[in-house]
Amino acid sequence: MNKVSKRAWLVLAAAAVIFCGVILFVVRYARDASEWVTFPGNPHLYSGINPSIGTVRDASGELLLDSSGERIYAHDLMLRRSTMHLLGDRDGFIEAPLLGHYAEDMISYSPVHGLVIEEKTPATAELTIAASVQKAALNALGGRKGTVGVYNYVTGEILCAVTSPTYDPDDVPEITEENEAQYDGVYVNRFFRSSYTPGSVFKALTATAALSELEDAESMTFYCGGEVIIDGERIVCAGYHGEQDLATALKNSCNVAFGELTVLLGKDIMTEYAEKAGITSSLSFDGIRTASGSFDVSEAGEGSLAWAGIGQYTDLINPCQYMTFMGMLANGGKAAQPYLMQRIVTDGTASYQAETVMLESGLRSDVTRTMAEMMRNNVVQGYGTALFPDVEVCAKSGTAEMGEGKASTALFAGFVTDAKYPLAFIVVVEEGGTGASAAAPIAGSVLSACVEHIDRQNSSK
Ligand SMILES: [Zn+2]
Repeated sequence: MNKVSKRAWLVLAAAAVIFCGVILFVVRYARDASEWVTFPGNPHLYSGINPSIGTVRDASGELLLDSSGERIYAHDLMLRRSTMHLLGDRDGFIEAPLLGHYAEDMISYSPVHGLVIEEKTPATAELTIAASVQKAALNALGGRKGTVGVYNYVTGEILCAVTSPTYDPDDVPEITEENEAQYDGVYVNRFFRSSYTPGSVFKALTATAALSELEDAESMTFYCGGEVIIDGERIVCAGYHGEQDLATALKNSCNVAFGELTVLLGKDIMTEYAEKAGITSSLSFDGIRTASGSFDVSEAGEGSLAWAGIGQYTDLINPCQYMTFMGMLANGGKAAQPYLMQRIVTDGTASYQAETVMLESGLRSDVTRTMAEMMRNNVVQGYGTALFPDVEVCAKSGTAEMGEGKASTALFAGFVTDAKYPLAFIVVVEEGGTGASAAAPIAGSVLSACVEHIDRQNSSK
C-alpha cells in the first residue's frame, strides 16, 4: 500500500468515528436531554442544590413555595418553619430531594426548543401534606427536638411530616457556639433520615410475633414482681404488676413479661418479625430513601435478647418506617407505602399523578385484629380516650432509655380505626421524658388537626 492510500484510509476511519459519535449523541440527546437539563448543577434551575421550578402547594391548595422566579416561601412563619425540610432552603444547607426528584416533570423542556421557563405557565406541584396539620405538629412539639408523622394507610398520602429543630428559610439563623445546642441536627430531616431507640413502642412488634407464633399467646399469664433476672441480666420494670395476661402486660408495658416473652420466642422468630414489620429495611419514594432501623441479636445472650424485645439493646427504628408498620397493624397486615407528591400540573395537564403502592407484611389479619384490640385497650385503660376526642385510637407509648445522664426519648405510635380517618402516626420527642405524658398529647392535637383537614376536604368536594 502506498503512502497516499494509507492516509486516505486513516481519514476515512476518523470520519467514521466522528459519524458514529454524532449518531450516538443524537440518540442519547433525544433520550436523556431532559435529564441532563435537570442535573443539580444547572444554574438556570437551581439555587444552591434545590431546584427552582414552579409552585408547590399543600393538599388544600395553600401556597408553600413559589420558585418560578425567586424562591418565595409561604407568608405564615409557622408554615415556613414546618415545611422547610420538605422544600429546602435557598442556600441548599437543607437538601430536599423531593422537588429535585420531580424536576423533569416540573420544567417545560423540549429537546427542540430547550428550556422554556419564561413563556410557559410554571408547573404546580401538589403535595399530600396539610399546612394546618404541619403547623399544629410543630406547635405541639413546642421547640423540643423530635418528629411527628401522620399518613393515610389506605392511600399512602402523608398528611404530616414535621421535624424539629428547624428555622425560617426567610431568616436563616447564624449558628454559633452559644446556640449550636438549640440547632443540633437541624440539617437532618428526622422523620425520614433518623433512627431512634424505640423503647416500649417496640412491644407492639413483640406482641405481634407472640400472637403469630404462640397458639396460646392470648391466654398466657406472666408474673411481675418488679424485676426479673434473665441469664444474669436484671430486667427492671417501671411497676409491680403481679399476675397479668398478654393484653394487660401490653397495657402495663411490663418489662418483665415482655422480657420473658421475647426469650420464649427466641432470636430467629424475633428477627423474622422485625423483618416482616420492615424495621431493618428502608422505604424509597419520591426520591426519598428512609434510614433503616436495626434489630440485631446475633451476638446477644438471653438477657440482651430480653432487652431487645423491650425495644432497648441495639434496637433502632426509623419513624416513617414504623408509622408504616402501624398502618399494617391497622389494615390487616398490608399498608400503603407513604408518599408526599400527589400530582404535578402544567397548563391544566397532569405530568405526574401518584398511585397507591401496597406493602405486604405477611402478617395474618387475625393477628393484626387482636393487636388492634389490645392497642385500643392501651388507650381506654391507660392513656385515656380524652386525649383523642375526635377518633378511635389504638396506640403504644415508649420511653427509650438513652444511657446514664441522658434524658429519655418519648415515643407514641399507633393508628385510627374510623373508616373515615384511616390514619397511622408516630410522635418522637427527644429528651421528652415518658411517652405517655410527653408524646401522646402531641398525637392527640395533631390527629384533631388531621380530622379537621379531612372534614374540610370532604365538604369542599
Ligand atoms: Zn411489670
